[in-house]
Amino acid sequence: MISVEGDNSLATLAFMELAIEQAKLALKSLEVPVGCVIVEDENVIALGRNRTNETRNATRHAEMEATGYLLERWQKGGLSKKEIGMRFSKCHLYVTCEPCIMCAAAISILGIKAVYYGCANDKFGGCGSILSLHSRNTDGSSEMKDCFTCKRGVMASEAVSLFRSFYEQGNPSAPKPHRPVQACAIYSNWWPVLAALMFVMVSMPCLFFGSWSHCILNQPQRNLLFCPTLCYLKFVFAYYLVYLYNLKI
Ligand SMILES: [Zn+2]
Repeated sequence: MISVEGDNSLATLAFMELAIEQAKLALKSLEVPVGCVIVEDENVIALGRNRTNETRNATRHAEMEATGYLLERWQKGGLSKKEIGMRFSKCHLYVTCEPCIMCAAAISILGIKAVYYGCANDKFGGCGSILSLHSRNTDGSSEMKDCFTCKRGVMASEAVSLFRSFYEQGNPSAPKPHRPVQACAIYSNWWPVLAALMFVMVSMPCLFFGSWSHCILNQPQRNLLFCPTLCYLKFVFAYYLVYLYNLKI
């Protein structure tokens, strides 16, 4: 079940404010501005912000950063798997944007108790927008049970305004826009066939009609390969292939 905004306690807002601070740090570093904090017994025990550009690792979302930090710390502290599971089961995670499918799955596996998020993630959201990974059928019945509770819409407008700032300033790591695909779509799959056809079209007049008499009639057939006119046409043909290749075939 996902509860919606309306009864945000002061503590919830305070923790989300810290997550927003993390998102602002991400924005300053030219990252997609998402931040999160993990809280245990009303104490912040981990912070995380999106670092996908900095690390060149698409999995380094804010939630993965914060949970990864805790896992490492607890493992180094000698906690067993069971003890780590028990610690996570007492944790609440506050994140500025709905966890994506990857992060929601990780949160579910780790056993985090509750997630509070700001705006929805309409493209990749794993807590209701695209998939509902917080809810699971555990006993074979049709009843879905929550792996972790979700509360959405906490300071959503602040989270959205950070995204707006980010996209207004431009994402330096965004892939370059593709050239119009429609215009060259036919080349993408059929370029070898087109290339062969062009070669035949170029060669046939020379072979059968001898229209370029200066190189065909006065020279033996075997020299056709070195005929200047043909060489020129082959050059044009090769150039055309390079042109096709540059169209992102
Ligand atoms: Zn994620």
